[in-house]
Amino acid sequence: MIELKGLRKQFGDAVVLDGIDLTIQKGEIVVVIGPSGTGKSTLLRCLNFLEQPTAGEITVGDLHVDVNRARKADILQLRRQTAFVFQNYALFANKTALQNIAERLLVVDGWPKARAYERARDILRRIGLEDKADAYPASLSGGQQQRIGIGRAMAAGAEVILFDEPTSSLDPEWVDEVLALMKQLAAERQTMLLVTHEMSFARDVADRVIFIDEGRIVEQGPPSEIFYHPRDPRTRDFLQKIL
Ligand code: ATP
Ligand code: MG
Repeated sequence: MIELKGLRKQFGDAVVLDGIDLTIQKGEIVVVIGPSGTGKSTLLRCLNFLEQPTAGEITVGDLHVDVNRARKADILQLRRQTAFVFQNYALFANKTALQNIAERLLVVDGWPKARAYERARDILRRIGLEDKADAYPASLSGGQQQRIGIGRAMAAGAEVILFDEPTSSLDPEWVDEVLALMKQLAAERQTMLLVTHEMSFARDVADRVIFIDEGRIVEQGPPSEIFYHPRDPRTRDFLQKIL
């Protein structure tokens, strides 16, 4: 289970997250939507301590931290439990597909080498890229690179995988294979928190959709409610623009 209480983030005087309260159950697929610049990426990044939150409490599985009292070991543990998939894949250009997946296990999760490489091979099989183990990112398609980005996140069995617009950088021809892999994970009930503009994916796969505006949760509910019967005028306005 993931729980955020009163999560705040300021950049200087600018309040980007204004007290986010959110509970995500194990196995839940939660999609975050909202206008540009409203704090969606910042929310995910704070959960992973890629950004230091200004205030609030974060619970991930057994780990509970007050963000202002988090020790180094807490932050490391939080990173182990919250794997991140980036819009631009963020693969190491000088490492092979296999090494990219193993790297997280070695560096973040502290696995011994043999076990990390064994798991990385296993993951390559699961994402259908077994034959690309020794390929470098530059020789792979965008879709393949992002599948490796997702594979890397899958590898350590983190409590939750955070996706920040995982298909937004892809040429249209590669979007489906990445969404298919995400659907596969959702079917396995991997807990997922994702920001995406893929509304049909959200409709088909999400258990819950959260609409964020100006750093606050405005409205949330099952996709059928949020997409077809939004209550708040801000949600309606946003959906009208994108649907
Ligand atoms: P988009 O849909 O465009 O990706 P978003 O909802 O993900 O937008 P964020 O990237 O979280 O929005 O940004 C929220 C606000 O915080 C924006 O006004 C942005 O300019 C600001 N911001 C984000 N990162 C920083 C930073 N490192 N320093 C200062 N301001 C930042
Ligand atoms: Mg963003």
